[in-house]
Amino acid sequence: MVYDYLIVGSGLFGSVMACELNKLGKKVKVIEKRDHIGGNIYCEEIDDIHVHRYGAHIFHTNDKEIWEYVNSFVEFNRYTNSPVALSKGKIYNLPFNMNTFNQLWGVTTPQEAIDKISEQSSELEGKVPSNLEEQAISLVGRDIFNTLIKEYTEKQWGRDCSSLPPFIIKRLPVRFTYDNNYFNDKYQGIPIGGYNNLINALLQNIDVETNVDYFDNKQYWDSLATKVIYTGPIDKFFDYKYGSLDYRSLKFEHEKLSIENYQGNSVVNYIDKKYPFTRIIEHKHFDFGKQKNTIITKEYPKEYEVGDEYYYPVNDTKNNRIYSKYKALTSIDSKFLFGGRLAEYKYYDMHQVIRSAFDLLDKEVNI
Ligand code: FAD
Ligand code: UDP
Repeated sequence: MVYDYLIVGSGLFGSVMACELNKLGKKVKVIEKRDHIGGNIYCEEIDDIHVHRYGAHIFHTNDKEIWEYVNSFVEFNRYTNSPVALSKGKIYNLPFNMNTFNQLWGVTTPQEAIDKISEQSSELEGKVPSNLEEQAISLVGRDIFNTLIKEYTEKQWGRDCSSLPPFIIKRLPVRFTYDNNYFNDKYQGIPIGGYNNLINALLQNIDVETNVDYFDNKQYWDSLATKVIYTGPIDKFFDYKYGSLDYRSLKFEHEKLSIENYQGNSVVNYIDKKYPFTRIIEHKHFDFGKQKNTIITKEYPKEYEVGDEYYYPVNDTKNNRIYSKYKALTSIDSKFLFGGRLAEYKYYDMHQVIRSAFDLLDKEVNI
């Protein structure tokens, strides 16, 4: 065996594993099918602007250990995510907070907003929410569901809100203060110089090969290493034995504009279904850029088709059931380890991916 570990995928999960195993004196190799490292956090530098090629990425966490870990590789700026939403020609603040309630209902005090929401959520008659629609109505009432959630969510997931799991909408804070911070977490920011600085630092001393698809020569790659850490889609690894899992994919349309400021914010959500995209990102605002030009990206959701990138697991009952069958196969052969958003089929944010990598490392170190 040439390597202790072969890591399939250079996203955040693979890169943290590679870095930490290397620190422990293990011989590690990373292979990556794309022509660059970093997975979905990769940034492309165009005209001195860090373009988040696979969608807006804001690091946020409550986990001090994870925050200190990433800060040990790269310095973070003070960016706070405060997207706005355009619905029927009007701009609303997100997440759902006193600004939103005021813009929608004209209410000015928390108690007025609470009363309005409880009046509207009473339509559920105390029922425990069992899907995204009911969860949304119970949290913020029907007006907000109709104005800011329904059409966006149905574009994003290609499914009716009543068939989606409640947890998706619980990602968004609801607060009765005038605070537009999209996250409740204690720590938040974007790496100064872009996410590539973080990935480059993690993979600094690692043997990495890009443009290599593991499945083109699986037997060969498996023969090189004692253990293989796989971070790609789990159903593909097991040759779709139990059928394919659903994923939502995205199409990104990047555009350079010869103006300084297109939309005045890094993220504007487009709620109405007449727009085929869900958001427009203006990348320079992630770094408080003052460049003469700007680059914007429209994000179009779509169902995964062969050849697309996998972005979001669809954690509904049907897919979770299929996933649990694949999960049961992962412990059969101890040569193969699995982790990350695609191999664990979990709607992980970056800090959760790092935590999951740490958990796997703990297990490996204790073997
Ligand atoms: P990935 O980044 O998907 O990496 C997996 C890698 O494996 C890829 O590079 C892939 O090419 C490679 N690979 C797969 N199969 C093979 C193969 N057969 N051979 C070789 N290589 C292979 N998180 C946040 O914390 N904040 C945010 O604001 C945020 N915004 C997001 C916005 C969007 C649009 C999306 C899609 C995700 C967002 N996330 C955000 C989540 C974040 O992107 C993920 O948590 C994280 O990047 C997942 O890392 P990973 O290593 O698990 O997966
Ligand atoms: N969402 C919505 N309206 C918005 C923003 C979000 O209805 O303006 C819903 C939508 O269902 C989305 C979920 O909230 O999938 C989670 O939003 P988040 O911004 O966390 O999604 P991500 O950035 O992961 O795509």
